[in-house]
Amino acid sequence: MSDFLRPALQALEPYIPGEQPQTKGYIKLNTNESPFPPSPKVLDALDREQVSQLNLYSDPTNMPLKRAIAEYYGLKREQVFVGNGSDEVLAFSFLAFADEEHPATMPEISYGFYPVFAKLFQVKPHFIPLNDDFTVPVEKFCGVGTTVVLANPNAPTAIGLSLEDVEKIVSSNREHVVLIDEAYVDFDGETALPLLKEYPNLLIVRTFSKSRNLAGARLGYALAGEALINDLERVRGSFHPYNINRLSMLAGIEAMKDSDYFARCRRQIVLQRTETAEELEKLGFQLTRSSANFLFVKPPLLSGGEYYQRLKEKGVLVRYFDSPKLREYVRVSIGSKEQMRQFLLKTREILLEVRS
Ligand code: PMP
Repeated sequence: MSDFLRPALQALEPYIPGEQPQTKGYIKLNTNESPFPPSPKVLDALDREQVSQLNLYSDPTNMPLKRAIAEYYGLKREQVFVGNGSDEVLAFSFLAFADEEHPATMPEISYGFYPVFAKLFQVKPHFIPLNDDFTVPVEKFCGVGTTVVLANPNAPTAIGLSLEDVEKIVSSNREHVVLIDEAYVDFDGETALPLLKEYPNLLIVRTFSKSRNLAGARLGYALAGEALINDLERVRGSFHPYNINRLSMLAGIEAMKDSDYFARCRRQIVLQRTETAEELEKLGFQLTRSSANFLFVKPPLLSGGEYYQRLKEKGVLVRYFDSPKLREYVRVSIGSKEQMRQFLLKTREILLEVRS
């Protein structure tokens, strides 16, 4: 650290992303990416001609992508915001709707980036502990008198909230923004979309990284009433008007339009999730009920940390969180059929080794 860094930033502890080995050696089940390539339509769209236009800036209105998203959901373009990954959408949302005098309430266990944004933007976080079974204590989020940030389904627990529960939270906090991060909702979660008409305080955040197979393109979006979207545009325009590059913009449009491919990939993931969960249960694992593209699992006989380490030695990467309430668990992204077969094979080997 230099002597020049502002004192307020010296205490930052940046978010630590899951390991991203840039060689192909591992079966990578640690960052909830899709195991499937982008839609073939995305590949077709990113041709030489498009690359040859990289000397020109992208469209600072992001309108072509907003239009594709709005059409898909039957919303107005003015109800859509797009960002450089949903991480950027979340960052702009923290900046727009919370500060030193306006705290944000969030679950104690959730996406690890929320507290990092809070610290960066000097927002006081109010952490609400989850129930012992990792479910969200809905009543404790009602009428909290602050901005609310919730992932649904939650991460890394994989557990979804019902639309009815989300509505309780949104309707009891009408004076504040309720941000519902639906990064994983396409894998059986219940979306808050039907509530948009009635609640101008609802902000839904989504990503192309999981169900649209585009983690590397860095695309996320928000859906909300026009006023909240205007607020986010005000922040974006004061920070980074060209936040979506030309190639990602095209990729996002094609991915949004190809609903058949989206549905096929999604179905595969849900199928693999069900099969993997059944196998793990037979092996004595404890699992939460997943509505996401990952499983949150507690292995028998060994701690989460040991299981993670042994899997890594055998070439399988999963995500381990070294914190008191998560230590016994690991998070396993759902990969392809072959990747999950390998994962189960290595898991059985590990259990045999531990038993002998
Ligand atoms: N929200 C949640 C709950 C996540 O788990 C992630 C992925 N790590 C993100 C948002 C960010 O995803 P991205 O920036 O790739 O859109």
